Amino acid sequence: MLSCYIIYITDLLKYSFHYGDGTQGNMEIVKEILEWKIRRNALILAHNYTRPEIQDIADFVGDSLELSRKAAECHAPVIVFCGVRFMAETAKLLSPESIVLHPNPLPGCPMADMASPEEIRAYRAKHPDAGRRIRQHHGGYQNGGGHLLHQRQCGKTSRLPAAGQASALPSRRQPGANIAAKLGRKIELWPGRCPTHNKILPEHITAARQRHPIAIVLVHPECVPAVVALADHALSTGGMLRFVHESAQKEFIIGTECGILHRMRKENPDKAFYPLEPAVLCPNMKRITLEDVLNSLRDMSPAVELEEEVLRRARAPIDRMLEVR
Ligand code: SF4
Repeated sequence: MLSCYIIYITDLLKYSFHYGDGTQGNMEIVKEILEWKIRRNALILAHNYTRPEIQDIADFVGDSLELSRKAAECHAPVIVFCGVRFMAETAKLLSPESIVLHPNPLPGCPMADMASPEEIRAYRAKHPDAGRRIRQHHGGYQNGGGHLLHQRQCGKTSRLPAAGQASALPSRRQPGANIAAKLGRKIELWPGRCPTHNKILPEHITAARQRHPIAIVLVHPECVPAVVALADHALSTGGMLRFVHESAQKEFIIGTECGILHRMRKENPDKAFYPLEPAVLCPNMKRITLEDVLNSLRDMSPAVELEEEVLRRARAPIDRMLEVR
């Protein structure tokens, strides 16, 4: 009990230190969240793109792959997942014994919805060989919830596979095109795209480099190939965070959803971060609020529910995704 109390006080101090300047209105609600978190023995996971105040109350903040790994290893009785729906479903797949709360069930990912189970079934019936090669190489790059993933051979990650891993597998258009360019291989591309990253244009890089000539440009592999070609590096959000932390450089232009700037600035106060385009915000990632988190912990709802069949069959592609380093 004493250790729970110490965790509660430490979390509260961390939050009040960060928000000691004008966001005090949140303090009451944060206090309540922390109390309920202890009462429920819950772990809060948040994606790098969520609202800053959500990131600040989370036990762990990361990209989709890091959050999946955390869900698989945490063994928490209750996981509060702050991200889009397919990610919360992935957490449930990896931690079926846990109650996985998705505080606002509305946020789906438009890109994940660009491939339905029926379309995947039809694709595999038409291209049985692609399915076999997917099994052999398991380098796929896909978003999808449990219902979609059990039709697939591999899950999704934003990290580019090493040379030789990718083959002729259906992949989302932007990262798939970037992987094909990097490996010099032909990849059949699924007609999916991220509407948020598609807002980033090559002219944004040119203009940003003029404003900040010594800054390093980092973009996400979801960006179109013309943008990736102009950047210094294309990295997952987790990769970007490691890069800026380890780099001796002091200025960075960031080409991904702007939520990540909060964490970058917080963890690297001696460095400067500029958004490549400030309008790059994912409305789905921003939907979950502190009130939603509090309500879900208090009511233990909405919880992610997946059918037994989906839980069983979707596990293999997720496990293959976790093998990607
Ligand atoms: S940023 Fe793009 S891929 Fe990520 S959740 Fe939003 S729409 Fe989906």
